[in-house]
Amino acid sequence: MPKTLFEKIWDSHVVAQEEGFPTVLYIDAHFIHEVTSPQAFNGLKNRGISVRSPSRVWATADHNVPTINQLLPIKDLLSRKQIETLEENCKDFGIELFGLGHPWQGIVHVIGPELGVTKPGMTIVCGDSHTSTHGAFGAVAFGIGTSEVEQVLASQTILQTKPKTMKIDVNGVLQKGVTAKDVILYIISKLSTSGGTGHFVEFTGSAIRGLSMEGRMTICNMSIEMGARGGMIAPDETTYKYMYGRTFSPKGSDWDKAVSFWKTLPSDKGAKFDRVESFDARDIEPMITYGTNPGMGININGQLPKINNQMSKSSKDQLLKSLDYMGLEEGQKMIGQHVDYVFFGSCTNSRIEDFREAAKILKGRKKAKNIIAILVPGSSQVAKQAKKEGLDKVFEEAGFELRESGCSSCLGFNDDKIPPGKYCVSTSNRNFEGRQGPGAKTMLVSPLTAAATAIKGCVTDPRIFIK
Ligand code: SF4
Repeated sequence: MPKTLFEKIWDSHVVAQEEGFPTVLYIDAHFIHEVTSPQAFNGLKNRGISVRSPSRVWATADHNVPTINQLLPIKDLLSRKQIETLEENCKDFGIELFGLGHPWQGIVHVIGPELGVTKPGMTIVCGDSHTSTHGAFGAVAFGIGTSEVEQVLASQTILQTKPKTMKIDVNGVLQKGVTAKDVILYIISKLSTSGGTGHFVEFTGSAIRGLSMEGRMTICNMSIEMGARGGMIAPDETTYKYMYGRTFSPKGSDWDKAVSFWKTLPSDKGAKFDRVESFDARDIEPMITYGTNPGMGININGQLPKINNQMSKSSKDQLLKSLDYMGLEEGQKMIGQHVDYVFFGSCTNSRIEDFREAAKILKGRKKAKNIIAILVPGSSQVAKQAKKEGLDKVFEEAGFELRESGCSSCLGFNDDKIPPGKYCVSTSNRNFEGRQGPGAKTMLVSPLTAAATAIKGCVTDPRIFIK
């Protein structure tokens, strides 16, 4: 029987399967951070259980870390406690930690790929929804809850019900100024935030194949925002080129063996998916969200929806509630909308390629006076590389505040909150009420749109800066 990429990986990791029960699935790599691991470690301690495979657990500090002077004592007591607890637990259980000050510290979904820990064919979990990011390498990667973190630490396996499979094809060539972020925002706006529920999605088609690994990570990162269990893209030459020579990538003859195996992973011809959706890349323009979930997105030059009689009562209520929170009007245009903050960061768009592309627009230009612009690299290695390439100077001269790596304003867990009532154009992945801080109004965009908006001081189509 022809198999999909997902089925090949899932089937080869089944430890036990009994009819009517969840699968016991072996996990190759388990990423942990300070927020969802403390209770899991407590559970192990209370039951006197050790970590089954410490070398398969990768720890970093990201959600709660300050992004200014990370080596000073953390002011926020809860954040400090969480970071210290992670340090203690990693020491007690023999897990290597890329904590504050470590050259490999960074957002969990940025460091895994950049270190070469994330590999095709793996099963990968983390107590964080955006674990789907790692699927860009052709891995089955998904977020898990705290009790499951404990389960994986104790047994290196997890109980999971097999999801259905879904294929999303994007064919054609993307227009200039249209990025992977626009592609995924477009898909979610078409399928809704529940469009992928119960499914594991494989993204295929020429537009997807044409993306860099950074772009593929952006797509898979946000696949969960349409309710999918995870997203994945089959490995190919782009994948191998990105992975070659990375710290934990196979070396010498092991590399050749690994590539031969990875080449067996793509979905077989004739493999059946439970559901298939197709999009034309030429229909996609730079996107922006206007509401309070990532599915409420429009083409940057488009108009917000208007209430109409075809809408269900719940759709009407949701739209009105979102517009009320965002302080926007039905039918209005987003272009020219006032903005106070531009946040450039998060596991969706804080990689070196994101910075390179935005720097092309920002070079020799300055941000508008009304904008506070913050640039937060996804990892210490991204920060180092940006410096090496002189990108830090481009952003600094444009008036951006350059910070140290972490989740930062992607969520209101740390010092970098967007103040109540302020509008933030953000390269992150969630625009829920209060996500960037209580009362903050988030508009999700690509790095190019963020850069163009920072310059003009209001929502701006990046194509005016692209020749
Ligand atoms: S950057 Fe945002 S979405 Fe990504 S792991 Fe951190 S908090 Fe989660």
